[in-house]
Amino acid sequence: MSEAIKVAEIFGEDVFNESVMQQRLPKKIYKDLKQTIEEGKELDLATADVIAHEMKEWAIEKGATHYTHWFQPLTGVTAEKHDSFISAPLESGKVLMSFSGKELIKGEPDASSFPSGGLRATFEARGYTAWDCTSPAFVRHDAAGATLCIPTAFCSYTGEALDQKTPLLRSMEAINKQSLRLIRLFGDTTAKKVTPSVGPEQEYFLVDAEKFKQRKDLIYSGRTLFGAMPPKGQELDDHYFGTIRQRIGAYMKELNEELWKVGVSSKTQHNEVAPAQHEIAPIYAKANVAVDHNQIIMQTLKRVATHHGLKCLLHEKPFAGVNGSGKHNNWSLTTDTGKNLLEPGKTPHENIQFLLVLACILRAVDMHADLLRNSAGDPGNDHRLGADEAPPAIISVFLGEQLEDVVEQLVDTGEAKSSKKGGKLMTGVKTLPDLAKDATDRNRTSPFAFTGNKFEFRMVGSRDSIGSPNIVLNTIVAESFCDACDILEKADDFEKAVHDLMKEYMTKHQRIIFNGNGYSEEWLEEAKRRGLPNLRSTIDAVPALVTEKSFKLFERFHVFTKAELESRAEIKYENYSKAINIEARTMIDMASKQLIPAVIKYTGTLAKTALVVKEAGADNSVQVNHLNEVNALLAKAERALDALVKVTNKAAAMEEGEKQAHFYYDKVMPAMAALRKPIDTLEMKVDKEAWPMPSYGDLLFEV
Ligand code: ADP
Ligand code: MG
Repeated sequence: MSEAIKVAEIFGEDVFNESVMQQRLPKKIYKDLKQTIEEGKELDLATADVIAHEMKEWAIEKGATHYTHWFQPLTGVTAEKHDSFISAPLESGKVLMSFSGKELIKGEPDASSFPSGGLRATFEARGYTAWDCTSPAFVRHDAAGATLCIPTAFCSYTGEALDQKTPLLRSMEAINKQSLRLIRLFGDTTAKKVTPSVGPEQEYFLVDAEKFKQRKDLIYSGRTLFGAMPPKGQELDDHYFGTIRQRIGAYMKELNEELWKVGVSSKTQHNEVAPAQHEIAPIYAKANVAVDHNQIIMQTLKRVATHHGLKCLLHEKPFAGVNGSGKHNNWSLTTDTGKNLLEPGKTPHENIQFLLVLACILRAVDMHADLLRNSAGDPGNDHRLGADEAPPAIISVFLGEQLEDVVEQLVDTGEAKSSKKGGKLMTGVKTLPDLAKDATDRNRTSPFAFTGNKFEFRMVGSRDSIGSPNIVLNTIVAESFCDACDILEKADDFEKAVHDLMKEYMTKHQRIIFNGNGYSEEWLEEAKRRGLPNLRSTIDAVPALVTEKSFKLFERFHVFTKAELESRAEIKYENYSKAINIEARTMIDMASKQLIPAVIKYTGTLAKTALVVKEAGADNSVQVNHLNEVNALLAKAERALDALVKVTNKAAAMEEGEKQAHFYYDKVMPAMAALRKPIDTLEMKVDKEAWPMPSYGDLLFEV
C-alpha cells in the first residue's frame, strides 16, 4: 500500500468530525447541531443528550475509557480533568457506561487554582467549562489510555473569561459581524459568515533526553541559564533546510501520523536555522480550531519525543547565541463561500474592496501596535525580539513593492491607476522552466508582513498560545471595519466616500509601513521619529492592556470587560515575576551545588599538579598561572552568586504586581547575567571531564 493512501485513511480517524456526525447522528439532531455550529443557535438538552450518547459510543469503539473537558486557562498550556464513563455500580455489581448531554456541554472544575488575576477569590472556587462545538472533539491515545477530549471554554461563576478561548470566540463574532457589513457594501449578498483563517508555523528544538536530564536549567526553566558557545554555531547556514537526520526523520514520521489521526493537517516540516532546530506548519484552519490544533501540536511534539529518546524544547530561547524559536501567525479572512478578503488579485489597484480592507488593517495595526506587541509578550520572547534573529519589538507593516506603490498612489492623488507586475523569472538555463515571479519579494525582518493573500504576524513566542494575538487581530480589525462601515453605509456617493476614506486612513497611518531592514540601527531611529512605540520587554507592554483606548476597544466589541483586562494585566506581571524567579533560583541551585563545587575540585587537582611539577624540579608557572586564573574567576562567581541570592530574596518578598515584575527585570536579570559570565568563562578553562553537565556542543550537535 502506498504511503499516500494510508495518510488519507488515517487522517481524522480519531476525530468526531463532520462525516462521523453525519453517519451516526439522527438526521434531525445532526441538522440542529449544524445550526448551532454555523449560526450559533442554542442547543437544547434533549439534543445534547443524543449527541453525547453517540459521541460516547464512538469514543468507546476507539478504546476510550474517559472523557475530559479540555480547556486553555491562562497558564499558557491546556488543562484537563478526566472522568471515566462508568456510572454508579448496579445491584448486579456491574457498571454501565454513560455520558449525558449535561456532561457534554458543561463542566464544573474547581477553578481556584488557575490564574484569575483577582477576578475570582479563592473562596469563590466555582468555574465552568462550556463545550465549544465549533472545534471537534477527538480521542487522544497516550500512556494514560484513550481519552475523549472535548474542546471547551472556561469561565468564572460570574461569567468572566478565565481562558484564551472565550475572548477568542467573542472576537470571531465581532470580526464576522463587521466583515459582513463591509462585504455587503460591495454587493456580496450571498456570504453568510466571515471567519478568520489562521495558519501558525511552529518552531522547536530537539535534544537528547539523557543529556537534557543532566541540565537542571532545561528541566526547571526550559532554557539553558549557563553555557559557553561551541566552536561551531549556525554560521555556515548548513542546518536550514538541510537533509533531515534519520533519528529526527523517524520522530517526524510518528509526529505526523499522530497529528493526522486527530485531524491536524500537518503539512510542512524542515530543519530551521539553528542546529537542532526544526519547524512544523499545518494547513490553515478557522481561528479557534487553529488555536486548539496548535496546542495539540505542542503537546504531541513533546509526547512523541519521549518515544525517540528525545526532548522537545518549546522555549523561545533555549540557547544563548543561537537562534531562538517563534511562531509565525498567518492570518486572513475567509467567507463561507470561499472568498479571501485579503486576496488582492492580479491588479490590486482596481480591487477597491481589497484596498479598503488593507486601509483598515493598516489603521488597526497602527492604532493598536501596543496591544499586538503585548499579545506576543513572554519572558522568553524578550531574548529574541530585536536580537537579529526575530523582528524587533517595534511593530511595523511590510507590504512589498507592489502594494506600497498602490498605497503611495492613493495617498498622493486619491486614486491608484496601476499595479506593478511580477514578470518572469529568467533562469538562463534552457532545460529549466521560466517561472512566473511574484510581484513582491519576501522580507524576513518584518513583524507584520503581507505575504500574498494573508498577513503574517511573526512576533509570537514559540511556546505561547496563539489565542492572544488572534484575539487582538480580530478585534482591532473589527473596529476599523466598523468605523469604516458607519461612514460608508450613510454615504450618498459610495464610490467617492470609499476613495476619500481610503485616502484618509492610508495617509494617516502610512507611518506604520516599513519595507526595509527591521534589524538595522537606522530603523530604530526612524521608528522613533515616526512615533512608533518600542516596547522592549514583556512588562513594558503590559500597560497597553489597561489604557482607556484598550477598555473602549474591547468593551465596544464585547471581547473583554474592563475587569477581565485588568485581571489579564495582573496575571502577566505575576507570570513574569514567577518565571524570572524560577530562573534565578535555578541558577543559584546549579551554581552552588554543581558548578562552583566542580570548579573547587578542579582547583584542587590543579594545585596538586602544580606541586608535583615543582617537586619534579620543573618550571610550574603554567600550572600556577592557570590555577590563579581559575581561582580569580571562581571568586568572581562566588561574589556574583551572593549578590544574586540577595537580590532574588528581596524580589520574592515584594508584593506581587507591576513593581515586583520591574524589579525582577531591572535588578534580578542583570544579577543573573553577572553570575553567568564568569561561569561560562570557566567552562572554557576547566577540563571537560570535570564539568558537571553537557555543553552546548553536546546538546546542539549530538542529537
Ligand atoms: P513560509 O514560507 O512562510 O515558511 P509555510 O508553508 O511554512 O510558509 O507556512 C505558511 C502557513 O500559512 C501555513 O500554515 C499555511 O496554511 C498558512 N496560510 C496559507 N494561506 C493562508 C491564508 N489565506 N490564511 C491564513 N493562513 C494561511
Ligand atoms: Mg515556514
